[in-house]
Formats: sequence, structure tokens, C-alpha cells
Amino acid sequence: MRASVFEALAGFDKPASAYDIADVMSQSQGRRVAANSVYRILDLFVGANLARRVESANAYVANAHPDCLHDCIFLVCDKCGQITHIDDDRLTGAVRDAAIGAGFRPERPVIEVRGRCADCAKG
Ligand SMILES: [Zn+2]
Ligand SMILES: [Zn+2]
Repeated sequence: MRASVFEALAGFDKPASAYDIADVMSQSQGRRVAANSVYRILDLFVGANLARRVESANAYVANAHPDCLHDCIFLVCDKCGQITHIDDDRLTGAVRDAAIGAGFRPERPVIEVRGRCADCAKG
């Protein structure tokens, strides 16, 4: 089950919701796969750093670099849904520092920028 969830997730070129993934799996397995069980596995992946959650899109992407622990920054295109992933530890470190400075214990900064990707900005 986990392997097929990951395979389905990795097959998307955009962030995929648990429902998207359940649909793909239902088709390839010829039986109904519940989005709820996909959700649980996606959460495990996020905890294990195998996947990232794009909060503002309520969707997930396979982690391109599971070996390193960045606070990823996602650029979310509102037109085509494509997301670009960048890492800037200086920036996310500053966000963590600001949180700590306010007496807050940060677990995971969420930095997502919405707008238009390079292709959509052209049109
Ligand atoms: Zn990253
Ligand atoms: Zn776009």
C-alpha cells in the first residue's frame, strides 16, 4: 500500500491531493481505494521526510531530496497549478529565528508564494 501511494505521488508533475492519489490507485488496482487511508500514509511520508505538504494547495509532492532537511519554499502558480520548489536556508532560518525571538518554538516554517509561474506569466 505504501509503495503504491508513493509511486502514484511520484507520478504526478503537480502537487497531488489524497483524492487525486486515491483516484489513480483505484484505477490501476481496479478497486476503490479510500482517500482516508491515502491521507494516513501521506502523513507518514511527511513525517519521514519522503514527501512535503503544500499547505495552501492541500496537496503533497514527493520530496526531491529526502536526505537533507530543508524548510522548503514552494512557489505555487495559481493559473496552471505547477509548483516550483526552492530552498533558501538563510531565509527560512531567519523565519525560525524571528519565531524564537517572539518566544515561540517553531516546528516547521511554511513559506509558500502564490502567483504566476514563468510560463503563465508570459501568456
Ligand atoms: Zn527543499
Ligand atoms: Zn503556471
